[in-house]
Amino acid sequence: MNTPPDVILVNGTILTVDPSDSIAEAIAIRGDKISAVGDRSFIESLAGPNTRRVNLDGRTVTPGLLDAHAHFSPSQFNRPDILDLSYPHVKSIKDVQEAIARRAQEVPPGGWIQGRSWDEGKFAERRRITARDLDQVASEHLVWLSHTTGHYGVANSAALRLAKIQRETPEPPSGTIDRDSSGYPTGILKETAQDLVTALLPPLTQAEMEWGMREMARRFNTEGMTGVKDPEIYDKTWEAYRAVLAGNELTVRVFTLWYGGRSIDEARALIAKRAAMTRPYEATGDDRLLAGGVKLYADGSGGARTAWVYDDWNVDFTGTDAGNRGYPNIEPDTLREMIGMYHDAGLHMGIHAIGDRAIDLVVDSYAEAIRRNPKHGLRHAIIHANIPTQHALEVMSLLQRDYDAGYPEPSATFTWWIGDTYAGNFGARSRRLNPFATFQRRGILWANGSDYSVTPFPARYGIWAAIARQPALGVYSDDPFGREECVDVKMALRAVTIWAARQMFLEPKIGSIEAGKYADLAVWDRNPYQVETGDLKEMRCELTMFSGKIVFQRDTQMKID
Ligand SMILES: [Zn+2]
Repeated sequence: MNTPPDVILVNGTILTVDPSDSIAEAIAIRGDKISAVGDRSFIESLAGPNTRRVNLDGRTVTPGLLDAHAHFSPSQFNRPDILDLSYPHVKSIKDVQEAIARRAQEVPPGGWIQGRSWDEGKFAERRRITARDLDQVASEHLVWLSHTTGHYGVANSAALRLAKIQRETPEPPSGTIDRDSSGYPTGILKETAQDLVTALLPPLTQAEMEWGMREMARRFNTEGMTGVKDPEIYDKTWEAYRAVLAGNELTVRVFTLWYGGRSIDEARALIAKRAAMTRPYEATGDDRLLAGGVKLYADGSGGARTAWVYDDWNVDFTGTDAGNRGYPNIEPDTLREMIGMYHDAGLHMGIHAIGDRAIDLVVDSYAEAIRRNPKHGLRHAIIHANIPTQHALEVMSLLQRDYDAGYPEPSATFTWWIGDTYAGNFGARSRRLNPFATFQRRGILWANGSDYSVTPFPARYGIWAAIARQPALGVYSDDPFGREECVDVKMALRAVTIWAARQMFLEPKIGSIEAGKYADLAVWDRNPYQVETGDLKEMRCELTMFSGKIVFQRDTQMKID
């Protein structure tokens, strides 16, 4: 005799995202797993005297949404306790100055004032912040404000002095000290040049790190989200995750990537230390925390115009940043060798590549490593993959077909949240950004990520952005990206459910609503398959289940008995 379910959800619309995208009416849950999916009378017939019943009352259920790329663990550029300078909290450099001036009243002179998430694309002044702007309001303090992309930031003069950054200071490898026409540092530091200042910031304590993770898990759950791929962790991050897991407070599944360094020596050291325990299929803690692989950076950012491209970057959409084609983050031959080493060690890799030239380098290096050592199923990823060439698309589809590797992990919300900055910098190339329809035509699977805190994390924004391709403000045009590369809501939902689950190596266990999978579910106030595109952005999560337990419930009339 079958044991009756612990809980049934009835009287709703269940978007299962199973292989045939079938739609059901009810779900039965036993323990932490889905035990049955079907029509209402069938599921009702399974209930026993102790079965709890959730009356969905016409609401829609999706699998718990996943984020294939979010900086979930707190770091210097996303920690939740520093000044949030994101739009619409601040709309101008003047607003930033006011926020700093207020903080300067609270922090003793000589102390640090840190902020995050500013974006000049949304400032009324339409320019970057400089040290001079900061000196006007906080000359006695040390100020560091990281940009929303995390690829550049700005220091005030006191912080520049402390970091010994002067006119004579040479550029560090793969970094830029931005300078005025007479060669003096403006305060803007790009890529590795940021380290000159950030190395001096007080480090996060273990308690702050754990608090940040618990806080993020809670916030994810309020958005119907139950899983994340955290693309850059270190020993301390792993220990903090283990502590939060042990306290039973990790209410999202976290798939982590170790930061893989910039040199052969670093690769060798990481392999020696972590290769044996970094096996995505051997999870710890009930598939809740996985040491999944390695993250590398091939290039910089589309916001800072440091990503590595074939043709000069643009300025203000039609202008040219003459001679600037960005640069690689790691010397290409070294990167190729590191990729080979990690591949041979059996490690899954995710490599950040934004520019077309960097993406070509990454996919060709993957192909080379796999040809030499044909391991199947490591699912190596191209993180962001913003403007792939035809060649890169060809290699991705072949790698996916033959080796289960070469998966793009883009962020649909780039064309929205940083879409104005992006349109200005990419110029005519903007139409090639995030080519989701091309992916679909070529049979390329992709997994969507928010890249939080680069863009806001709620996955509903990613679903909307993949369909709308609309910039936040429309500074250069309402439609700089074109509509040719839009996909429909079914594809957009797959990219934040089953395809993202694949890139966490968890697709047999999560990512769709099917019997035998974990009961990770989100209940919504509307059916995303039926509403207008614009309404997707406003979807409201009303209840979230994780491993069969309710981890979030909005104050609604939904009846649970
Ligand atoms: Zn990222």
